[in-house]
Amino acid sequence: MRYVKTISEVTGSGCTMSQIANDRLTDPVGVVKLCAELIAFDTTNFGEGRSNGEREITGYIAQLLRNAGYAPEIVGPTPERASVVARIAGSDPSLPALLVHAHTDVVPVEVDDWSVPPFAGLIRDGYVWGRGAADMKDMVAMTIATAQDWASRAIRPRRDIVLAFVADEEDRGDLGADWLVRERPELLAGVSTAIGESGGNAIRAIDAAGTVRRLYAVATAERATMHMRLTSTGTSGHGSRPTADNAVRQLLDATQRIAQHRWPVHLSSTVRAFLEQASHALGYEAELDSDEGVERTVERLGDAGAVARYTIRASATPTVLRAGGKVNVIPGKAEALLDVRCPPGYEDELEDVIDKLLADDATRDFVSLGRSVESAPDSEWFRAMERAILDQDPDGIVVPFCMGGGTDAKAFSSLGIACYGFAPLGLDSEGREVHGVHGVDERVPIESLVSGQRMLASFLQRV
Ligand SMILES: [Zn+2]
Repeated sequence: MRYVKTISEVTGSGCTMSQIANDRLTDPVGVVKLCAELIAFDTTNFGEGRSNGEREITGYIAQLLRNAGYAPEIVGPTPERASVVARIAGSDPSLPALLVHAHTDVVPVEVDDWSVPPFAGLIRDGYVWGRGAADMKDMVAMTIATAQDWASRAIRPRRDIVLAFVADEEDRGDLGADWLVRERPELLAGVSTAIGESGGNAIRAIDAAGTVRRLYAVATAERATMHMRLTSTGTSGHGSRPTADNAVRQLLDATQRIAQHRWPVHLSSTVRAFLEQASHALGYEAELDSDEGVERTVERLGDAGAVARYTIRASATPTVLRAGGKVNVIPGKAEALLDVRCPPGYEDELEDVIDKLLADDATRDFVSLGRSVESAPDSEWFRAMERAILDQDPDGIVVPFCMGGGTDAKAFSSLGIACYGFAPLGLDSEGREVHGVHGVDERVPIESLVSGQRMLASFLQRV
């Protein structure tokens, strides 16, 4: 029953809503309180199918939506691993629908390292604190608060908007977004476009004149996730009698060649657009004709360039080795796992390169395969997100970017839905920033959350 906590209970340190108001912001739609409440549900996903589950939070979200007059449906493979979907009817049924998706599960905490209780939903020092504050109960709260606000003011969007608050993103999405796409695609009928995790939050950038600017990167692409297992086999036997086909030696050779391979730059249209537009807006030169030029362009952008550092090329990172069990026994088999990420459009070439590097030393198969995502970085949808951000921050710079990792967009894009990462957060006027995503003392600035909700509402109402 964590969700029945009142604001005075969740604020812990005695901070009250009037003090929050003193932070030079108003929160008329209650997004801050709601974010804190959602954090108080411990929805930890430990991975490999182990999880505290999303049943309670899903029930709470469904109740909030029902109270606002919507008709949510709780769906999922089991009651414990539930998601909730609701469709807000638009005024123009001829327009394709828009999906807004956000996951309700969170990654585990190392509680001893935290300076606050991670599931208390503390509101303190200008932040909402707790696991999920910025990944991504903030977006869940912004979306629900917007729907509640519309209901209270009898506002209808132009097009149908489907809200999906899904389980299991922090593992493989098998029981959340993938399940939804596989088992209940009719809930997404008529959806042409989606917005979801990662993108649209303010990043500090320094322009060529030394001025601090605000860069809002909206995700229009994601690298493919191609998790691979390498397997080497050889003759097993006594360690005192070396063999020519030692599985461990072969696996190490193959893994070493892949780990040391220098992947060429492969610019997707999104990364190219990011480098061109960010460089132009910040007054830097963009050199995109050679690998070295691209690397220099990324470096010149400083912190803003970090957004592109891992997405200009593929990466193949060895993460797990498994072989042998006894020092005097040569094992017949050795395995390695590689975390391979691939820019959109480079997948086939990447597989060819990996096969050449493996030579005869190892074979490969996929442990998991998540397609790359790429939506048009210059679409009307992108422009609408840009306008929504600039409404709140006229001096901001809005650019497309490619995510280095993956989100539930991979599942939704398999239905032909154009996916964007847009979970906007404005800048905090006193320099507070999002902190601790997947780490310690996760927190989101209150001011960023409030202005982010305004950006989201402005976008949803406009489209
Ligand atoms: Zn997340």
